[in-house]
Amino acid sequence: MWSNGPLVHQQYDLVLYCPLRNSKIAEATTLVDLFVYKCAKVPIVYKWFEKMNGEGLLIIFDGWDELSEQLRQSSLATSIICREQLDKCSVIVTSRSYASSSLLKMDTLSRHLQVIGFFEEEISTVIIQTLQTDPILAQELIDKRNEDNKNHKPFTTTHINNKSQLAVKLINELKVRNDVQSLCYVPLVCSMVILVYCKEGGHLPTTLTQLYENFVLQSIRRHVEIKSRHKIDPYTLHSLSSLPPQLDKPLKEMCHIAYSNLNDTRMTFSAHQLQSLSEAAKEDYLGLMTTFIEYDEKKYQFLHLSIQEFLAAWWIAKDEEKTKEVFKNHFDDDHFRMCLRFLAGLTHLKHESYQQYFNKQQQQLDLQSSKRSWSGPGPDKNDDHPPAVKPEDKEESNLELGKPEDKEESNLELGKPEDNEESNLDLGEDEEKKDDLDDDKKDDLDDDKKDELDFDDNHDKNTDNQEADHEDKDEDDKNSNKDEDYKNSGNKNEDDEKDNFKTELVAELTEEVTQVPANLSGEYSSGKDIVEGDIKMTPEQAALFKRDGWDGLVNSEAWLRGHGKWSRTIPYTISGVATSERNALTNSIRMFHQHTCLRFTPKRSYNYDYIQFVSSGGCWSYIGKLRNARPQRISLSSGCSRAVPAHEIMHALGRYHEQSRADRDRYVRIITRNIRSGYARNFNRHTNSDSQSLPYDYLSLMHYGRYAFSKNRRCTIVPIPDASVTIGQRDRMSMYDIHHVNIRYCPERALRLVGGRGSYEGRVEVYWDERWGTVCDDYFGHNDGRVICKYLGFPDVAATYHRARFGQGSGPIVMDDLRCAGNEYSPFACPMRTIGTHNCGHYEDASVTCQKNVRLVGGRITSRCAVGRLEVYAEGRWGTVCDDYFDINDAHVVCRQLGYRRASCVYPRARYGQGTLPILMDDVQCTGREAQITHCRSTPIGEHNCRHYEDVSVRCLNY
Ligand SMILES: [Zn+2]
Repeated sequence: MWSNGPLVHQQYDLVLYCPLRNSKIAEATTLVDLFVYKCAKVPIVYKWFEKMNGEGLLIIFDGWDELSEQLRQSSLATSIICREQLDKCSVIVTSRSYASSSLLKMDTLSRHLQVIGFFEEEISTVIIQTLQTDPILAQELIDKRNEDNKNHKPFTTTHINNKSQLAVKLINELKVRNDVQSLCYVPLVCSMVILVYCKEGGHLPTTLTQLYENFVLQSIRRHVEIKSRHKIDPYTLHSLSSLPPQLDKPLKEMCHIAYSNLNDTRMTFSAHQLQSLSEAAKEDYLGLMTTFIEYDEKKYQFLHLSIQEFLAAWWIAKDEEKTKEVFKNHFDDDHFRMCLRFLAGLTHLKHESYQQYFNKQQQQLDLQSSKRSWSGPGPDKNDDHPPAVKPEDKEESNLELGKPEDKEESNLELGKPEDNEESNLDLGEDEEKKDDLDDDKKDDLDDDKKDELDFDDNHDKNTDNQEADHEDKDEDDKNSNKDEDYKNSGNKNEDDEKDNFKTELVAELTEEVTQVPANLSGEYSSGKDIVEGDIKMTPEQAALFKRDGWDGLVNSEAWLRGHGKWSRTIPYTISGVATSERNALTNSIRMFHQHTCLRFTPKRSYNYDYIQFVSSGGCWSYIGKLRNARPQRISLSSGCSRAVPAHEIMHALGRYHEQSRADRDRYVRIITRNIRSGYARNFNRHTNSDSQSLPYDYLSLMHYGRYAFSKNRRCTIVPIPDASVTIGQRDRMSMYDIHHVNIRYCPERALRLVGGRGSYEGRVEVYWDERWGTVCDDYFGHNDGRVICKYLGFPDVAATYHRARFGQGSGPIVMDDLRCAGNEYSPFACPMRTIGTHNCGHYEDASVTCQKNVRLVGGRITSRCAVGRLEVYAEGRWGTVCDDYFDINDAHVVCRQLGYRRASCVYPRARYGQGTLPILMDDVQCTGREAQITHCRSTPIGEHNCRHYEDVSVRCLNY
């Protein structure tokens, strides 16, 4: 699950990690305590989740086994797990298996999984990689092992290197030592086995207790080595029970601390709690503790919880009375389970007496389990639940390595006195031989410790769970899950559901993780004013949405009024956006600049409407340009990476999500039963969405991913008919995404008039499939001409023509049977045949003449020459142009628009009189190749820093 982090993000707004060993969290009484880290950043986040009943929140309570019995009965964590609070949040609880019985009594946890450790092959790989520190030799050895395995040959090596030899020896020994091998499924224990094996010159410990005893001894040796003031040769330390006084005393103190705090269920310590220790013990805690920072306070804990448990057992075992007392008082105490196990190993209690204990416990558990009602899926509850030890299973238990009782069994059995005698280890024997290993192992030990700290939680949870049959079980689990879901939904058409299920399965199998958006642009956001995950609504829109739902909203004035268009120059500011998202924004803007006519420019003082990129809780944007966009905000918070900024910008440009198109049901299937409750509204189909006649686009940056708003990590959207089609990419604008923008904002990139006297007339050509094509004249008339002319920025149509009046085109015939009503904003919005299909020839190419959209006023017009104040028609009105930056290249564009060949002069300073119309354009900077002056770079239409005495005038010539 964690390796697929994006999926988790996609599903949850917030994942809260709550280690229960942390006393503040364990004893928390209010949500604030749980959110304490988050509070600084988002002060009201806990209130929000409180209000939402925890929807979108995943809480991980880590270490249920470390919670005291009292807190397990009654604490904030318990009430959340029992769904008495935040009942909509998801909860994951981790626990050592033996402590999970109290969890399983709660009906609210729907699933119980045993975490797996290493596979058998991985154990030997880890052994090789740990012992053979030369990576090349290690790889050779791994290859050799694979080869030998394949050929069913004993594993050997030709390496004369000690390290390789040792690794091979250990691996081969484990093959005949199932008891130890079964310990090695747990990563932490595996590394301890390797370390001890190495230090012991190739001898395996025979019990778990021995393993820990030896490991602690090694830690103390290392401590002595580092703190050389002890003046003790570490290699004279042969056993924990025969340490010199200067080490024995601090060890006892440490053991006492371990025991008394285990008794209080305390696993972390602040400095003052360790104050009672002698200076000698405090010096380095014999190398048995690590430190970490918790809420700015230095905290201490044993290298691992199991080390604390071992030391506690060591302390108890020194006193026979104490041992009996602890066994009596704590036999059913989860917190002492591991400790008692060590205690048994250390005190060699008679096998029979254990059998009595365990038999008694077995009976109790049988009683409990017959009462237990448990709703989780799973093939066999007894398998999932750690059963108590059955002595008669002993023989089998080595075969079925997985069961928790195995270890207990093996420990009991191996704890026999005769074994133990051998275990007073002959450390001196092979010392010389091992010297070369020792340095490496020091480092390894360091790493071990680090690992222990970092992965403490995993190890903890693994310590008791060694699953050999986990694979099958997982599989069964999955299948039974599917079955269950399938049954639940089986009310309708069963066959249909089966197909559906199959499709989904295929889809899930073929999905690549990289195709799943890290965060479907704004799934972090799900406030009352956010719909479809990242579409922000104004208060007015939100109120309408609340009252009338989606349909009420999109047909409302409040929506349409907001659904405005930007100029092709879009001013912007950025504030508070983090570097990575800022970089993503830069890349997104680059895409628009490269593929469209839009130009994002930093806001200047005279810009009114602009986009303000902020970081305000998720990735979101309004749809279209709001009437009052001063500024209009787009939020790019943490995680709005890759091309997500482009996605949000597209919303602001007016684009909806692709899968909300009116025709989407022909292309995708929405799997409603997998959608998180309350989020179905995010899968609205918009009857009035604007597909601009473009094909349904699975590759669109605006398409949801398969798992959008999934409550169960299964598909919510499946493409049909081919479920394996990629959807939900967030890396780039697709070809049609670009086309969408260009149709809406850059008409000259979607439509042009060719072959006429100026850009205002000619054969209608449409850009399609990366080339220019034509429009068939079937049904072509005035209304079509009007839409085309207005779309291209002309005031109106002057004439329409059939039969290739301005010559036949050569590309594809793109549009046919065009039947505009006249009020569409683009011909792409008009009814027509499916774009790209036709029954025409190029002799039927349609043409138009439009009314011109530039004029020269106050001067003189002849067929050879025209001069006057420049007035342009843009965004539905006429106005003047400021002379700032206006030069001959700009004038050339104007003159060609008017049907003249070129410009000969530019006159600044209202040479032909000051206009009275609005000043529409300023800072015009054409390249000279544009078809219209409004296509040139300039300030947004109507925004300027000019007066009419700066009106520009132009002279055009026709020769
Ligand atoms: Zn979106």
